[in-house]
Amino acid sequence: MSENKIIENRTLVLIKNALLDGEKRDLFIENGRIKKIAKKIVEPNIAALLEQPDLIRTEVIDAGGKLTLLPAFVDIHAHLREPGFEGKEDIKTGLEAAVNGGYAAVCCMPNTNPVIDNEYIIRYICDRANSLNLAKLYPIGAITRGMDGQLLADFGKMRDAGAVAVSDDGKPVANANMMRLAMEYAKDFDMPVTSHCEDISLVDEGVANEGYHATLSGLKGITRAAEEVNVAREIVLADALNTGVHIAHVSTKGAARLVRDAKRSGIRVTAETCPHYFAATDKLILNYDTNAKVNPPLRTEEDRLAIIEALKDGTIDAIATDHAPHQKSDKACEFNFAANGISGIETAYALSYTYLVKSGAITLKKLSELMTDNPAKIFKLEAGKLEAGALANLVLVDNSAEYKIDKNKFLSKGKNTPFHGLTVTGQVVYTIVAGKIVKRNGVVAGHE
Ligand SMILES: [Zn+2]
Repeated sequence: MSENKIIENRTLVLIKNALLDGEKRDLFIENGRIKKIAKKIVEPNIAALLEQPDLIRTEVIDAGGKLTLLPAFVDIHAHLREPGFEGKEDIKTGLEAAVNGGYAAVCCMPNTNPVIDNEYIIRYICDRANSLNLAKLYPIGAITRGMDGQLLADFGKMRDAGAVAVSDDGKPVANANMMRLAMEYAKDFDMPVTSHCEDISLVDEGVANEGYHATLSGLKGITRAAEEVNVAREIVLADALNTGVHIAHVSTKGAARLVRDAKRSGIRVTAETCPHYFAATDKLILNYDTNAKVNPPLRTEEDRLAIIEALKDGTIDAIATDHAPHQKSDKACEFNFAANGISGIETAYALSYTYLVKSGAITLKKLSELMTDNPAKIFKLEAGKLEAGALANLVLVDNSAEYKIDKNKFLSKGKNTPFHGLTVTGQVVYTIVAGKIVKRNGVVAGHE
């Protein structure tokens, strides 16, 4: 255990006057866990504590009856780009961006270079992240070696090294039998399989959602069926194998309907969507803004409303960011050649709060489930909970803060967002990971 770790665990944190379910509460953290939540906690007897080993420190945060306390968020779908694409992001900047966005746990996708398809890279990533003392990082191993769809990776060795799930995200597993084998193999190791659902033959070199706005822009469209055909395939396979499957970034009304019907039939399918699918539509491509190019593409208003409905009724279990940072040159080109993806981990809470809670679609409690409890459950991760004994992974958010998103303030290397300049509500002010304050009064440690 490093000295940092000892200090972190011996730091006592008292949060005063935070809003919890609308009521003012105090919360006391000891040894990285929540010790007590009460109306009023008398400051711990510091004199007595100081007689104990000298590594104990105390910190007091006064939330002033203005900041709301929530469990810190869990992202089960992010691209941190290391190893191989450090021009776009690396583990340090990715995790700094994560804690800036209120995330205490992040699962990173394996489409790096080399691909995260073996235990050595898994170990490297875990070690690198642990040395940073930011958010906890959980790697997702590849389904196939090199993500080339030909041979299965060694799920057991990757799991033993720290992988929490498998996915070839960024690419579909094109061959249905390969996916069948992967789901069967993952079942043996009790590992979730995240499927990036995209039938490449149906994409047919399209770059935007097929419809009015693509036509108006002269851009080649992608039928929604490209996503839905694969969602249907994974559901059929999960049913046939009596196992589970997790569907990444659901973006269409039809995909949500397939998941809803499957759940009603008792098939063990779970699903996530991302903030851009309920906060934006393909209207954003009208000025050829390559920051709005993402895969699956931004869809129509009808799809956007269907995604919100699916979040409301539990069809979609989780909000993930699909944080996909890129460097300038990846986006500063013709729309057809621009890279897919949005740098989204620092705007996820504000977009979710604005478009789901402030709009009246769901409660804050439900949003907290979608961003923390449910994703943690799907990947079997320990998340923060607002109860004594729980891991002290917490955020304090200001839900009255209204401001404009400013990409230049991102800690991510990726400034690629179509939401720059958009007015949103909801700001992460503090992020606490295992009792350690990593974002303090709006500023991430190391960026004071
Ligand atoms: Zn994907």
